[in-house]
Amino acid sequence: MNQTFSTDIVIVGGGIAGLWLLNRLRQRGFDAVLLEKATLGGGQTIASQGIIHGGLKYALNGVLSPASSAIAAMPEHWRRCLLGQGDVDLRGCHVLSPHYYMWSSGGYRSRLKTFLGSKALRGRIDALDERDYPDFFRGRDISGALYRLSDFVVDTPSLISLLAEPHRDRILCIDTETMQMALADDGHLENLTLQSRNGIVKLQAQRFVLCAGEGNGPLLQQLGITQPEMQTRPLHMLAARVPHAQPAFVHCIGDSFGMTPRLTVTSHPDPTSESGGWIWYIGGEIAESGVQRSAEEQQAEGQRQLGEAFPWVDFSAAQWSSFFINRAEPRLPNLQRPDNAFVSAKQNLLITWPTKLTLTPDLSDSVCAELERQGVQPQAAPAANADSSATLSSCFDFPEVAKPRWEHLFRGA
Ligand code: FAD
Repeated sequence: MNQTFSTDIVIVGGGIAGLWLLNRLRQRGFDAVLLEKATLGGGQTIASQGIIHGGLKYALNGVLSPASSAIAAMPEHWRRCLLGQGDVDLRGCHVLSPHYYMWSSGGYRSRLKTFLGSKALRGRIDALDERDYPDFFRGRDISGALYRLSDFVVDTPSLISLLAEPHRDRILCIDTETMQMALADDGHLENLTLQSRNGIVKLQAQRFVLCAGEGNGPLLQQLGITQPEMQTRPLHMLAARVPHAQPAFVHCIGDSFGMTPRLTVTSHPDPTSESGGWIWYIGGEIAESGVQRSAEEQQAEGQRQLGEAFPWVDFSAAQWSSFFINRAEPRLPNLQRPDNAFVSAKQNLLITWPTKLTLTPDLSDSVCAELERQGVQPQAAPAANADSSATLSSCFDFPEVAKPRWEHLFRGA
């Protein structure tokens, strides 16, 4: 049986961008439906390190650009949400570390210190006295200086579950192989048709919002849209199961005083440990340059660099793993890296990339502002079906929340 449903907004993609937006739109009285092709958060979001940052690492070249100032407000925005006082209620989201640290080893200390002590950064960073060191560094004779940033780290699976759970009836697991997009002559997207367990479903909406991360590229191609264009930045991320190690949350600034910390370390609960162990997850420059290395080479390089950075940690029984993943973002002139959430309107489509987990609230604000600018108002009754009393959620499954990669990387290891 073919069925037609009308809604105000269809969101394509169930990562952080789509789920945050779904929450914002429904609060504003819009009827909205989110389509996910695989697992919720299973693209970049759950693979991210979960650092909600104020952009300081982008200021490491010594220049505080307007963009790095814009991102500065984000940690405070998220903190209000975690307290239930923000635009999205994140009470119950697990925070892995309330602080994030930056450690500059000896060589560049004085230059870094001058910059970090500058007026522009006042209030966003504190140089720590030894007695305020976090447990991981306490009592260690470290060279250089340790700073506490305004950043913190969230547990992304708990974030995704929290945002999805209240909207189970509006989040649909779809088969993209069967998805067809009907375009009018003027490029307007008239509807989407999908195969459901009850036959073909046609979805009509006032606006369609693409929040599909790397999936936006093929969707734009299918729609014949050449601008905006997507770019991907590959990373070779490292994970280490380090027995008895304490959790570490730190950027290690290397010898080059540049944009990317040498190592960016976060720690995540080890799902296979009964005694509360941690998986260390490592990005930063090592993950960028690591795209040129094989898995074996990358893991050996990880052992070498981490052993050098943290000589007091016993890595002898550590298990190492690594995987490749792309960051997806809009292509900017001169191959620049975007610093803000990106939203572009084409006909009745909005094309979006948050570019960073941190900037997701900014993305939703921009989409809401664009809808307001275009005069789009809530109209539809909840995913109304013109032909019968069937509901959308009776036609599709609810997608699962993705598991962190190390759940299978280390299981059985
Ligand atoms: P995604 O999370 O990729 O979600 C897109 C979703 O769309 C996926 O679930 C996918 O299955 C679905 N999809 C794709 N195509 C279709 C389709 N045709 N139909 C339906 N669904 C579709 N940012 C930070 O601020 N802090 C960090 O610490 C951080 N660490 C990172 C570490 C790594 C390794 C990576 C890769 C990124 C990191 N980022 C970080 C960036 C951040 O993770 C991303 O900017 C953000 O998660 C993107 O969210 P998204 O919802 O746009 O995309």
